[in-house]
Amino acid sequence: MFTYGAPQLKFGAGSSAEIGYDLGQYGARRVLVVTDPGVAATGGPQRVAEQMKAYGIEAEVFDRVHVEPTDASMKEAVAYARETGPWDAIVAVGGGSSIDTAKAINLLTTNDGELADYLNPPIGAGRAPARPLNPLVAVPTTTGTGAESTTVCVLDVLDLRVKTGISHPRLRPTLAVVDPELTRSQPAGVTAAAGMDIVCHALESYTARPYTSYERKRPEQRVPYCGANPVADMWSERALGLTARSFRTAVRDGDDMTARTEMALAATFAGLGFGNAGVHLPHANAYPIAGQVKDFHPDGYPDEEPMVPHGMAVALTAPEAFRFTFEAGPDRHVRAAELLDPELDHGGDPSEYLPAALLRLMRDIGLPNGIGATGYTESDVPDLVAGTLKQQRLLATAPRDATEEDIAGILTRSLALW
Ligand SMILES: [Zn+2]
Repeated sequence: MFTYGAPQLKFGAGSSAEIGYDLGQYGARRVLVVTDPGVAATGGPQRVAEQMKAYGIEAEVFDRVHVEPTDASMKEAVAYARETGPWDAIVAVGGGSSIDTAKAINLLTTNDGELADYLNPPIGAGRAPARPLNPLVAVPTTTGTGAESTTVCVLDVLDLRVKTGISHPRLRPTLAVVDPELTRSQPAGVTAAAGMDIVCHALESYTARPYTSYERKRPEQRVPYCGANPVADMWSERALGLTARSFRTAVRDGDDMTARTEMALAATFAGLGFGNAGVHLPHANAYPIAGQVKDFHPDGYPDEEPMVPHGMAVALTAPEAFRFTFEAGPDRHVRAAELLDPELDHGGDPSEYLPAALLRLMRDIGLPNGIGATGYTESDVPDLVAGTLKQQRLLATAPRDATEEDIAGILTRSLALW
């Protein structure tokens, strides 16, 4: 059995100006707009809040979301929302961090208990919400995360130095408002990294362990990520086709609104796919690669803190991960390579098609040459492996079981890619 869930969707230039109307349809009168300081500085969230007033909605902006949310930053956001509530609806304007923080706020302003009660076990108690949540409108301003479509919220637990999350179907936003105009100012480096996140969402869900291979679950055991399935496949295939056509152009010329629109559509399609199928090895590796960053400062991102952006962290082990998973589903890997790179050379070893297509793309858009170029050396591999092994929820979706040695091999061979 597989299940399929998705938010309602409004897509297109100017769609973010209509949120007041949409909230009115849900009967909302008092709305909290959730964003981070960087996005708030663009004036976008304040504009969204102002536009709601025309529909008789009282809106307030909370702009203290932490980029890469932590348990501490989410608790602060929840405390604020509980003190200033009650709220009828939440609107998240921003990247995955704002949308995920809004999911936690929505959960904990409609249900009692604390953050830790709901975190995935073994870190938290894995409690399911007893009461329905309020409408949540997600307005992504970076093209890629897919957080507007998913049922998870991801955060760092500071004391344990581990990334975990809350996963429940009720966390899924009610409405995704995808306005390509909001991505126009995204710097080329961000478009490149976030775009690789889109590509990997599509590739990982397309090559994920098939839903038919799992033991049958009882209804209450069923999880949102149910493995590759026919509906998710459809979205992933279309997302790959769109990135093949527009990704390089969107990085090269950010004002090309045709390319921007196709990338926003690709991000949405990939989200609608992986939000039900799941992702696997590249995402599992990405958490420690981002989390254990030393002193890397990528182009296009704020310079204060070192970081390996999520999409970049995902992409850098993808060629090696797909070399490893090839034997679990050769046809799917070949098909994915053809979609991602329509000019693919069909000579030689088919297991090399997808890594070759990825490497060609990564070089064209200016990604670093492997995790070595972001500051890691061979002596870091054991710590990275330990971090990957903590992502059991993602490893369970891999089409081929990866041992500690397998993961160490993938990471080591990803130190330099070309
Ligand atoms: Zn991702």
